[in-house]
Amino acid sequence: LIGLYGPLNYIGTIYRALIQSFVDTESMFDLLNKKVVIVDSIDAVEVPSGPLPLNVNNVSFHYSEDQPILKNISFTVPPGKTIAIVGPSGGGKSTIIRLLFRLYDVTDGSICLGDTDIRHMKLKSLRGSIGIVPQDTVLFNDTIGYNIRYGRPGATDEEVEAAAEAAQILDLIKSMPEGYDTIVGERGLKLSGGEKQRVAIARTILKNPDFLLLDEATSALDSITESQIQMNLKELARGRTCVVVAHRLSTIKSADTILVLRNGNIVQSGTHEELVNIPGEYHKLWKLQRNPRKNSCDQNDQ
Ligand code: ATP
Repeated sequence: LIGLYGPLNYIGTIYRALIQSFVDTESMFDLLNKKVVIVDSIDAVEVPSGPLPLNVNNVSFHYSEDQPILKNISFTVPPGKTIAIVGPSGGGKSTIIRLLFRLYDVTDGSICLGDTDIRHMKLKSLRGSIGIVPQDTVLFNDTIGYNIRYGRPGATDEEVEAAAEAAQILDLIKSMPEGYDTIVGERGLKLSGGEKQRVAIARTILKNPDFLLLDEATSALDSITESQIQMNLKELARGRTCVVVAHRLSTIKSADTILVLRNGNIVQSGTHEELVNIPGEYHKLWKLQRNPRKNSCDQNDQ
């Protein structure tokens, strides 16, 4: 029996680690209804160090076989550069983010960091090197300090404070009687969408990842909050290899490359200056956002 203790304990540790990572992932992405079946391959490697490009090669993906979502898409993000993905609702933008974080595996093609396929990387190492600010940040029913420190559990109080300050959430924390010990989430203090996103930004600053995935919130923010958040996100993206899904075109004017995704296809790519004045999907989206009322009545213009 004693001989069994080691292996059983080992299995128990793996089980707990797996469950923990499922719980964390599920909490962050609200995947409670979805089966998470991604596990390490036997020969999985660590993410190679050094500045790496992100290569998406001929990727196709479907959630269910009868509904293709991404159709043979390819793009590269050079190290330290930002690529923005825009396009009509349902086109597959958030799905790309999910694939890059390996919440699902591609149906066809490959996603590589440098030359290594992410399916050959240890999940923990992969997700450790990626910071993600999702559309709707889910906060744990715990203290705001815990929620920020989650980005790097070993961080010191000073580091947490610096991250909170950089994400412009420090004033709010200091204004609360219990400060960092204030309970947030469903059973605690409810934060606005913008405030939750700032917590996610603080987490990500602490994590200090090489790769950054930003899924911009669709919910309307007031224009002051929005422009502050844009500044924060821009600062966060500096020097990191970044993929941002944008719903407001104003936020990605400075991206190194913009991809326009429609029905799972990349229909245009280029910089804002290159795309804005030529006929095409980007021009239409830009006009629509500039003047939503005119264009919503002007369907023939499509
Ligand atoms: P939006 O701009 O509205 O956020 P999007 O371009 O980010 O849209 P996705 O969220 O990637 O689009 O969704 C692409 C398509 O995949 C949609 O038709 C959506 O209904 C479908 N879809 C998304 N998640 C799932 C899922 N877990 N299971 C099945 N279908 C899904």
